[in-house]
Amino acid sequence: MKCPKCSDGELREMELPENVTIDMCPKCKGIWYDRGEVGFQQELERDIPELETVEKTKRPTGNDCPRCADGTKLEEMRYAVESDLMIDRCPKCEGIFLDKGELSKLESIAAKIDSFSARLARAVKDIDARGYFK
Ligand SMILES: [Zn+2]
Ligand SMILES: [Zn+2]
Repeated sequence: MKCPKCSDGELREMELPENVTIDMCPKCKGIWYDRGEVGFQQELERDIPELETVEKTKRPTGNDCPRCADGTKLEEMRYAVESDLMIDRCPKCEGIFLDKGELSKLESIAAKIDSFSARLARAVKDIDARGYFK
């Protein structure tokens, strides 16, 4: 696959623990994630937890999707409402491209979202255990 950012960069497959395969550009160190891989790696239910909201911030880029490779352009949008981290996402295959250094930002955002959803899940479980949902 071709790197969406470098004109002559070729993405290389990298195996991560738990059978996640990502594609990394050796030149710009950008990483391509196929649909579902970001969420899986960050233990989130979805790649982009607040997609319906952040999608409103999207704007087209001139970068081709490496996966579709049919001229589909990536769209730039915020990763989360409360964050200035911008990610590139393909509207067709829903893959995501992260520039160098963006993964660690995404991880810290995901950690906050994760702890929130985990707290919420525990609260719901607790309420359920008391029989409120029966
Ligand atoms: Zn590159
Ligand atoms: Zn695509």
